[in-house]
Amino acid sequence: MEMANVIGLILIFGLVLVSAFYQLSAFIWSLLIGVGLIGVTIAGLFSPITLIVVWSIYLIAALFTNLNLFRQQYVIKPALNFLQQQMPSISATEREALEAGNTWWEKELFSGRPEWKKLFNTPKPTLSDDEQQFLDNQVEQLCNMLDDWQVVYEERDLPKNVWDFLKKEKFFGMVIPKQYGGLGFSALAHSTVVMKIATRSISTAVNTMVPNSLGPAELLQHYGTEEQKSYYLPKLATGEEMPCFALTAPEAGSDAGSIPDKGIVCRGQHNGKEVIGIKLNWDKRYITLAPIATVLGLAFQLYDPDHLLGNKENIGITLCLLPTSHPGVEIGTRHYPMQLAFMNGPTRGKDVFIPLEWVIGGEKMLGQGWRMLMECLSIGRSISLPALSTACGKVTYRYTGAYARLRRQFNTSISSFEGIEEALGNIAGYTYMLEASRLMTAGAVDLKVKPSIASAIAKYHMTEMSRTVISHAMDIHAGHMIQSGPRNFLANLYIASPISITVEGANILTRNLIIFGQGAVRCHPYLLKEVELISAANPNIKELDRVLMSHVGFFVSNLIRNIAYGLTGGRLIFSSIKNKRIRQYQKQITRMSAALALLADTSLMLLGGSLKRRERISARLGDILSQLYLASAVLKYFYDNNKPNSDVDYVCWSLQNCLQKIQIACDELFNNFPNKWIGKSLSWIIFPFGAAYLYPKDKLHKDIVKPMLEPSDFRNRLTQYCYVSEKENELGFRLEKSLSMMSVIEPLWKKLMQAVKSGVVSQKLDWQERLNAAQQAGVITADDARLLNEFEILRSEVIKVNEFSFDLKQVIA
Ligand SMILES: Cc1cc2nc3c(=O)[nH]c(=O)nc-3n(C[C@H](O)[C@H](O)[C@H](O)COP(=O)(O)OP(=O)(O)OC[C@H]3O[C@@H](n4cnc5c(N)ncnc54)[C@H](O)[C@@H]3O)c2cc1C
Repeated sequence: MEMANVIGLILIFGLVLVSAFYQLSAFIWSLLIGVGLIGVTIAGLFSPITLIVVWSIYLIAALFTNLNLFRQQYVIKPALNFLQQQMPSISATEREALEAGNTWWEKELFSGRPEWKKLFNTPKPTLSDDEQQFLDNQVEQLCNMLDDWQVVYEERDLPKNVWDFLKKEKFFGMVIPKQYGGLGFSALAHSTVVMKIATRSISTAVNTMVPNSLGPAELLQHYGTEEQKSYYLPKLATGEEMPCFALTAPEAGSDAGSIPDKGIVCRGQHNGKEVIGIKLNWDKRYITLAPIATVLGLAFQLYDPDHLLGNKENIGITLCLLPTSHPGVEIGTRHYPMQLAFMNGPTRGKDVFIPLEWVIGGEKMLGQGWRMLMECLSIGRSISLPALSTACGKVTYRYTGAYARLRRQFNTSISSFEGIEEALGNIAGYTYMLEASRLMTAGAVDLKVKPSIASAIAKYHMTEMSRTVISHAMDIHAGHMIQSGPRNFLANLYIASPISITVEGANILTRNLIIFGQGAVRCHPYLLKEVELISAANPNIKELDRVLMSHVGFFVSNLIRNIAYGLTGGRLIFSSIKNKRIRQYQKQITRMSAALALLADTSLMLLGGSLKRRERISARLGDILSQLYLASAVLKYFYDNNKPNSDVDYVCWSLQNCLQKIQIACDELFNNFPNKWIGKSLSWIIFPFGAAYLYPKDKLHKDIVKPMLEPSDFRNRLTQYCYVSEKENELGFRLEKSLSMMSVIEPLWKKLMQAVKSGVVSQKLDWQERLNAAQQAGVITADDARLLNEFEILRSEVIKVNEFSFDLKQVIA
């Protein structure tokens, strides 16, 4: 081919790339490329054959994209049938779940071009003075009162004084507005209170969090009638009424939309009068607080066979509140979730008649229950489980880090063994990610967002991160945390891990079905609109054509951007971050956002409605979206803390970890793509030079472990609101104290060990004799010896485990 021809083609191809990259409108790109072609033609760069081929392609494409009426009539209309078959069918309950809540930053990530400024400019989540005081006083006081061994193993319930304190200080009314007698706290405060309690007693945290998360108070606030709000909210705030909410039934767990529990509209007696009401039958299980509830929130399917309310027979899922003292309500027996002490149990009722005014929101909310639950679920999932998960991170960061430094094997602190360092590094990095994600997700709720997808991401990934963290911590403590007893501060957090994994949408379902399934429909810039237009009784062809053409433009633009990003390694992507190391990562996050947009579109095109059944494809796409979200949370946390140097290694570790997880998800997706060649092509486009992201390097891992092992401002910030006991006989206190002595003790210890090694102090001597001999030999002073001895006593207390009488009824030591 002649040189001039090649130059001409490069020029035109460049214009095509620019048009697609910036997603120019059909008219503008036609004009731009048309002018380019005229220029190239006049300059005589093209040979006659190239001229004919290039102009023909251009004219077909330009006419197709600009002649709207022609395209609508001869392409879109005939293709409608095919499109209807391709589109996922959406049932009524699915639609309500999909439409519940709103989208937020996830939508930016899905767009392939996240506008970082939007995220960084959202206000930093901050506690008010009242909230801060509550944490410093009431929550601290509560934690001082709590003894988790007593709660879980001795009383199997909270002691009465703890219940009374929780009620008196309105812990159950954190989300209830002040006008109804509650504390009116922000989501951030709610999350922080639950988290701090969980660092002391997980059972107490669960009992406290449930009335504040998905349940009567939240539902009443959003949907209750004024009468219901005025009656119940003040009583719920003071704990005079104890609520529970019952959705789950033996045959309807994850598939809660299919609950068999029934309500039939009928006439009946209430307060001595005949009224229209509902006859209820239910059999629910796993209900937190049910055994002690005074007010029961119930979800059931409502039917009106006699048309007492209107024409509709099957009204749909409805929610009501009924006093547990009402005749026929069965509560009181307990389940025993992992032998923890929070209240959980079944509830049943047979032919229980209730008046219509007990329906939450009254008659107008009949049949609206599923939407109400889905909307409130996104709020609950953004707060409670992220709070519990972050508590695991904080406890293990603070105390397992300290323990690893203190525990010696082979005369060396175990924290210096590389194997332990690996486990510690994971705790350190994930704790940073947990705190960042907690703040960003609770912060979104305070911005009045009901983040349906972000909350599912937070629920799934944060509970999984906490499972990882707690397992690493157990490995580091080894026998020390295997032995039960008052000295064991990890066992209950470890035991509780599967509970968080199961509740509020079990994790496998959340990962495989919800995150991408819901995310694609809600976050994709065109998909939901397309589904609506295509499934309409009389599709609006003009609008459908407009949306489809925009979608094609979006796809082509993402394809071109991925090719460009792949070939340049994303180096030319704009980043506003000054720190050189972090800037590189931010570019890669943007690059992977473009990759997600391309992968999602290709999967949707190829699989259409069957993507719902291809859960493992959906899960991997969801993993990419999730890791992008978690990475964004880390960047936001870094920004909100004014980009401190102390955080740089942590940010790099977290982002590297997210990118590596994205790499794994992408590779698995390419390998299992329904069409092998498309899978391979996507892999070549996105990663033309092979895998781009590896696991964080050992050196980086080592660097993030260091701040765990000594007292520092950074350690205090990351573990802020982790309860630190001031009781001298508690492990937390001892660990803190020993760690604070380490900088003085370590050099003395080394001197002493050196003296033993060199024979100045005999190896045969016991500890006290060694100290004396070292003093006499002038190796250490009397003060040094006293300090070393004090430290050794403390250290030996730290490593002790409990002993019990033979029948295990009495703690002996
Ligand atoms: C301690 C505790 C407290 C609870 N508190 C309450 C409460 O207060 N109120 C209330 O109403 N409920 C409560 N629940 C119920 C909880 O919400 C359910 O346990 C949860 O929804 C899962 O239901 P299931 O246990 O029946 O599991 P199943 O639904 O039987 O699920 C079993 C497994 O299958 C997976 N799975 C199911 N469907 C799919 C799918 N389509 N694709 C992929 N995987 C799938 C799940 O992820 C899970 O791993 C509580 C549960 C526990 C354990």
